[in-house]
Amino acid sequence: MSIPQNLNHIKSDLPAHITLVAVSKTKPVPDLMEAYNAGQRIFGENKIQEMVEKHEVMPKDIQWHMIGHVQRNKVKYMASFVNLIHGVDNFKLLNEINRQAARYRRTINCLLQIKIAEEDSKFGMTTAEASEILQSDDFSYLQNIKIVGVMGMATFTDNETQIKQEFTKLKETFDELKAIETPNCKLETISMGMSGDYKLAIDCGSTMVRVGSSIFGERNYN
Ligand SMILES: *Cc1c(COP(=O)(O)O)cnc(C)c1O
Repeated sequence: MSIPQNLNHIKSDLPAHITLVAVSKTKPVPDLMEAYNAGQRIFGENKIQEMVEKHEVMPKDIQWHMIGHVQRNKVKYMASFVNLIHGVDNFKLLNEINRQAARYRRTINCLLQIKIAEEDSKFGMTTAEASEILQSDDFSYLQNIKIVGVMGMATFTDNETQIKQEFTKLKETFDELKAIETPNCKLETISMGMSGDYKLAIDCGSTMVRVGSSIFGERNYN
C-alpha cells in the first residue's frame, strides 16, 4: 500500500483522543511530503541533525517531535523549532533544554522517559527519580520548559503479556506523577506504542502513538 493509504488505514481505527506521531527517521523528504499532503502534521525523528535538515526544507506548519535519545550538546540545534522532546531522562538535560529555549524566548514541551522495559539498552528513569525531579527547587526555576507527560518503550519481544505489563506500569507512573502540578508541569500525555504494539498501548491508556514502519515501510539503514 502507498504511504497515504497506510496513513489513512491507521488513522481510521485510532480513537479520536489519540495523537499520531508519524515516525519518519531514515526516510527521504518526498516520503514525508506524501504523508504531509495526506494531512499529517506531526513527524517524529530520532536524530537531531536529520530533523534539522528536514525542518529546513519542509512546510513550517509541521510539528517536529524528537523521539530519540538526546545528547545535551546538540539541544541547541533544535531549540528554535522543536515542538516536543519525548526522551528526557535526566535533570542536566532538562536544564540545558531550558537554557536553549530561553535563548529563543520559547517554552519547549517535554516528556519524561520512564524505564519500563527489562532490557538494559533502554533509557529512562524510575518513577521515584521523576517524582523527585518534579518536586525539586531546581526544577521549579525552569521557566522555559513544560513537562506535559511521560514516554516509555516496551521490551522488544513477542510476549504480549510482558508488553502489556510494561505499558500498564507506565500508565501507573503517569497516574502517580499527575498529582504533581506546578507552573511548569502538567501531565496530559502518555507516549507509548509503535507499529507492532500501538493497539495494545491504546488499550493500556496511551494517548500518543509513535508509528513508523506501518506508515512508511521498513527502514533501510544502509
Ligand atoms: C523508530 C521508533 C519508533 C517507530 O517504530 P516502528 O516500529 O517503525 O513504528 C517509535 N518510537 C521510537 C522511540 C523509535 O525510535
